[in-house]
Amino acid sequence: MSTASITNSTTTTTVTPTSTRLGMMLTDLRLPTIKRLAGDLCAQSDTQGWPAHRLLEALLEHEINEREARRIDRHRNESGLSPAKRLSSFDFSAVPSVSKAQVMALTEGTEWIDRGANVLLFGPPGVGKSHLVSALGHALIDAGRRVLFTRCSDLVQRLQAARRDLRLPQELAKLDRFDLLILDDLSYVRRDQAETSVLFELISERYERKSLAITANTPFSQWGDVFVEPAMTLAAVDRLVHHSTILEMNVESYRRRAAQAVQVSPTRKVRSTQ
Ligand code: ADP
Ligand code: MG
Repeated sequence: MSTASITNSTTTTTVTPTSTRLGMMLTDLRLPTIKRLAGDLCAQSDTQGWPAHRLLEALLEHEINEREARRIDRHRNESGLSPAKRLSSFDFSAVPSVSKAQVMALTEGTEWIDRGANVLLFGPPGVGKSHLVSALGHALIDAGRRVLFTRCSDLVQRLQAARRDLRLPQELAKLDRFDLLILDDLSYVRRDQAETSVLFELISERYERKSLAITANTPFSQWGDVFVEPAMTLAAVDRLVHHSTILEMNVESYRRRAAQAVQVSPTRKVRSTQ
């Protein structure tokens, strides 16, 4: 085949790097970035007289970088995180009880994830618990970790169905691939859901191995509604808090404050013009 003879030639004939044969080999080896860039980079290498290893390094570096970017994209797509809820859009001054430095430390050093430690966020509705925990999730994905955000009651439903079908262990094992599992709104798990104790099993299963982040608008003292019996509530709380960071967000609802600000500002305007 003519392409092959050109490729094997030791003469200075310019080889088209994106030749059919090379293209096919790169497809076989699943190297799409090198396939896309080979033409340009080989041409650049020829004109600038790069040593062979420089060309090889440049091609591989692009492939590795793009592979990493694709991996992070995949992790973000599977995470169920709301795209807009990032740290950059979170106003820490609205929640003085939460230390920005502490949250940044959680996003920067991820050794707590390796230890399977937890983050628990408490506060009334509208104070930014879901936003902040999502922002933490995004930061961990940026750091190469896998995260799943789910409403706690949805996950309990899913685990209950798995238990009915005798595949609870398999379903719990599937969740193991996530370094951080975010359970949003634990307090909304209904009484009848509590009776199956799947949530307790999930907490026990991940204890000291894989991290959980939980938001709740009720304190531990009211978690009795979420678990079957007091002993189980105690055991669940005990496991969760053993290695955990607790963020108390006891401020007024951000939503309500934002709505009030909108209502107040026209009045101010009127006053100032009087
Ligand atoms: P919670 O989960 O505590 O009920 P949310 O996280 O859903 O509260 O916050 C309610 C709304 O207010 C969301 O749109 C969220 O993005 C916004 N919000 C809350 N707190 C903040 C904050 N500190 N900075 C920016 N936006 C916030
Ligand atoms: Mg919420």
